[in-house]
Amino acid sequence: MRKISVKLKITLWITLLMTILFLFLVAFTLFISRTVVLSSARQQLISTTRNSVGNISFSQGKLSTTEGFSFYQNGVSILVYSQAESLLAGQLPVSFTAKEPFQNGQVRTVEGASISYVVLDLWLPSSWEEGVWVRGLMEVPRNEQTTENLIKIAAIALPVFILLTAVGGYLLVRRAFRPLEQISATAQAMGEAKDLSRRIGLPPGRDEFSRLAQTFDQLFARLERSFEAEKQFTADASHELRTPVSIIKGACEYGLKCDETPEERQETLEMIARQAEKMAQLIGQLLSMTRLDQGTEGARLEPVDLGVLVEGLIRERGYEEDKLFLSVSPGVKVRGDGALLARLTENLVENALKYGKPGGHVWVTVKSQGEEGILEVRDDGIGIPKDQQEKIWQRFYQVDPSRSDESNGVGLGLSMVRQIAQLHGGTVTLDSVEGIGSAFALHLPLWKEEA
Ligand code: ADP
Repeated sequence: MRKISVKLKITLWITLLMTILFLFLVAFTLFISRTVVLSSARQQLISTTRNSVGNISFSQGKLSTTEGFSFYQNGVSILVYSQAESLLAGQLPVSFTAKEPFQNGQVRTVEGASISYVVLDLWLPSSWEEGVWVRGLMEVPRNEQTTENLIKIAAIALPVFILLTAVGGYLLVRRAFRPLEQISATAQAMGEAKDLSRRIGLPPGRDEFSRLAQTFDQLFARLERSFEAEKQFTADASHELRTPVSIIKGACEYGLKCDETPEERQETLEMIARQAEKMAQLIGQLLSMTRLDQGTEGARLEPVDLGVLVEGLIRERGYEEDKLFLSVSPGVKVRGDGALLARLTENLVENALKYGKPGGHVWVTVKSQGEEGILEVRDDGIGIPKDQQEKIWQRFYQVDPSRSDESNGVGLGLSMVRQIAQLHGGTVTLDSVEGIGSAFALHLPLWKEEA
């Protein structure tokens, strides 16, 4: 049973149930037809026997009947018995051999030798103590022919019925299961062809299978997106690493082959150091990103005074004081991870300094507004063109790669900033005008004591 398909199992169940129902209906029809026959026989017996009693009289030991009275009417035999139960008039049917005691006014069914009878006795008194029994006796039609016919029809109809139920049931079940087959065929094809762009594509409906197919399609779409993003990320990361590696390789080969002057050698070594530094930074950032993706660093959320954190970081980094202006409101407490928030701040401040104009300024502000703690990093630098403002959050995206190149940028900083903000249940907004400057603001929910 375990090896057969669900479709076949359901079909078998349907067929079995329908067969039971069919047999039950046949039995029920037989029972009803017997009941109807019996009940009409009883009615006939009662009315005929009662009428007969009106046409029979017994007085002074003499039995008389009205003119034209017959002891056999409407299939009912009328028998008259003396008080001592000896037959006075009427013809007892041969097959009625039973010794049935007299019971006044009671209709009973009595089994004869091979036939059933319905019997009704009525006491016809002639005086206080004397009288006769009038017995009505009617053969109950056995309707054996009907029963036989019905059984014959059932015997022919049953196999046809079973066949039709099984085939019809199977077709219906197969039709109902088609979406499920489509789902599994699509999933299988996706696995075999490694093609994540396939979809089940069932027309929208309200039944369970349509909803399941839609859910799967959404899941496939998400899978495809994240798979593509992963592929892109790997490709970008390899590309970013390949560039400094080939520069270092080229420089080394040149240095080994050519007889360089001490100045040239110094220059080559400096270039190698710069590229190595860039690679180290990239690898470090990739590692942080992977950790962030895995969420391992996001677990330690505790109350953090944003002002104290930012102030400490800026003092520690020793940024030029005439370039960077800090304004901190006291007691802006948020729920967060100190290390991650420090990295976010550093990324924003470094960017503001990196993409500033010569002699430009950076303003860092920590304040609270309503239910939010805000960290704003504003500069009067080169700004970001409107059409690029959405793209800068993507991994490896750089507005002007040549400019970032000078400063070891790889285009991962802002995507990390956004990820850290989201991990804290916050958002980062950007307000920037090309040539005028940019303002990045982190909004985090304030720490509540009871929380
Ligand atoms: P990068 O390593 O290149 O700095 P980021 O992800 O930090 O990467 O930034 C992405 C891009 O956004 C940068 O290449 C730069 O073009 C632009 N950008 C970021 N911050 C600023 C800023 N304060 N002013 C102007 N442009 C910025």
